[in-house]
Parts: sequence; structure tokens; C-alpha cells
Amino acid sequence: MKFSDIDGNEEIKRKLIQTVLDQRVSHAQLFFGPEDSRKTALAIAYAQFINCTNKQGITREKEFTIYDLRFTIDAVNGIDSCGSCPSCIKYQKLIHPDLHFIFPVSTTKRVTKKPQSKHFIEDWRKFLLENNFNSGLQSWYEYIGIENKQGIINADDCNEIITTLSYKSYESDYKVMIIWMVEKLYYTAAPKILKILEEPPDKTLFILISEEPDQIIKTILSRTLMVKIPRSALSANATTEEETFHLEAFRNWMRLCFAGKIPDLITFASEITKAGREKQKEFLTYALKVVGYCATMNYSQKDPQGIEGEELTFIRNFSPYIASGNLVEFNTLLNDAIFHVERNAHTATLFLDLSLKIVRKFKPNFLPL
Ligand SMILES: [Zn+2]
Repeated sequence: MKFSDIDGNEEIKRKLIQTVLDQRVSHAQLFFGPEDSRKTALAIAYAQFINCTNKQGITREKEFTIYDLRFTIDAVNGIDSCGSCPSCIKYQKLIHPDLHFIFPVSTTKRVTKKPQSKHFIEDWRKFLLENNFNSGLQSWYEYIGIENKQGIINADDCNEIITTLSYKSYESDYKVMIIWMVEKLYYTAAPKILKILEEPPDKTLFILISEEPDQIIKTILSRTLMVKIPRSALSANATTEEETFHLEAFRNWMRLCFAGKIPDLITFASEITKAGREKQKEFLTYALKVVGYCATMNYSQKDPQGIEGEELTFIRNFSPYIASGNLVEFNTLLNDAIFHVERNAHTATLFLDLSLKIVRKFKPNFLPL
């Protein structure tokens, strides 16, 4: 899970990244927020970023110029884990040997006595990956079929935490211990981990996750740095910020296509590839929306409702190029691109191909080579 795979939450992502850049990662942090906050996803992205051996964006310019246009690709790209180094690959499958999970469990038909997190680790990985790190406690209970019982984090799992962390890390700098829904830590077991939580072995990171921090045992709570994860995936601010970015990027892209600047379009394709599939889809969806507004404007000869400022100016200027013949083709090209981005196409090739097709829309006789 890269930060860029998580929608919105830009402020909290920036703060987490900053702790790494400033080398002030607290050794015990509590990510808390309501059920629909992306706390689990952010915890994994944070741990993956810390351990990534090829962190992206750190020495990059925040703004750069291609042709005579200023690009602010950082707004979508930003600083992030690479997603492709050996550490990231294992993190993305949740199988990194230095990434450990403890979560509430109970007996099930399969595990009939002394249940521990490790007995459910395969289910746990599937649960997180299938639900895109989104689901809460009740879904977890249903997933493993503990039925009407309550899961707890028990004394055996507390011992497991201590044993696991007493070994040296296998591969990465940091050992990461994620304790999911720490409010389910059984009160008689909790004292076992107070010491290690306060003074963990070197390069150990505890990330505790909670939906109900007021139910966490006070002695545990007082040993953590609390990190509040807000509810919405996309705050109003983030939406505006992203829309502004999308407008700027789309406008620049169309200018490059119109000018037939192939070397710059190659750069564009490779830059947007780094932004990650979710951002690419958002960008293409935005492009579809703009094309739709242009069509509306052409047919109605009126400004589309609810559009103002720079976006309106752009749509007014761009709409003559989305004439009736072009509209269907633009829509098809963009929809096809979204389809292929979702299906793991090689996106640098995809965006270059898409760009060249758009160049030919603007200049039917254009031969790029
Ligand atoms: Zn990496």
C-alpha cells in the first residue's frame, strides 16, 4: 500500500511523511479514527514508506518545466514508497518478515482452543487485501466466523509480541508491530506489554490502531503518541486541491498534444505513471468530466452550471475542439484508458499511446516520427 493508493487524507499523509524526513518517528503511535477512516491503510502505507529502500520524490523538484509549461506533478506524485523494491513488494502482500500483526481473535470451528493471531494470519492478509484495508471489527469477526463471540487480544498474543520483538529484524531497518483494535486488549494481559511499549528494542515501531480510544487501557494509552485520522476519505479541501491540480495537468497535457510535443509527452507519460493507478484514474475521470462539459457547452451554447473561475475559462477555450465528431472518440479513448489502467496495463505506454491518438485528433495528418 503506497500513500498514493489512499484517496484524500493529504494532510495526514504529509504529516506522517514529515516525521520520516525529520527522523522523528515515534516508537509507539496510536492511529485512531472512526470506522470509515483509512487508519489501517495509512498505518501500512506509513510502515511501507519507512522501510522502502527506494523512497520516491525526496530529491525531486516540486515543480518543473517542460516546454514552456510549469508542471506541478508533485501534487499527485509527492513523496511516497516506490512500490517495487523488495521491501515494498513484500509489504504489499503483507508478507514482509519484519511486519507483524496482532488483532482480536476467538475460537472458531477451525481453531478450537488457545486462539492466537498467528493462527489466523492467512485469513488476516486476505481480509485486508480483499477489503482494501477498509473493513472494521465486525466484518473481521464475520470473516473468520467467530459468530456471536467477542474477539480479544489475549495474554498469549502479548507474549508473542515480546518474543517476536526480541529477535533481530530479518531484512529491514525497522521491525513493525501493528496492533489492530487495541481496545480489545484484555485488561489482565495488558501489563505484559507496558515495558516493551515504553522501551522497545532499537528500531521497533509500534502502530496501534483503534476505533474507540476511550476504551483503551489508560496505561497503554499514555505510552503512545496519538495520531487522529479523520473520517472522510476526501475532505472538501483535498477535493478542491486535487481538482485544481487535475485542471492544471489536463490543460498542460492538452497543450502538449495540440503542439505535438512528442518528447514532452513522453515525459508526461512517465511522470503520470509514478502517480499510481488511483491518481491516474482520477485524472482520466476528470478529463472525461471536462470533455462532457465542453460538449454541453457546444450543444447548449451556455456555460455549464456550477463551473467557474479558471476551469470555466479553460472549458470555454477548449470546447471548440470537442466538436460533435470528436466527442464520441474522446470519450471512447478516455474510457478505454480507464479500463486498461484498472487492468494493470503498462501505464507509461498507455498514456503515451493515448497522447499520440489525441495529437492526431488535433492534427489529423500528424506523423510523430
Ligand atoms: Zn520501495
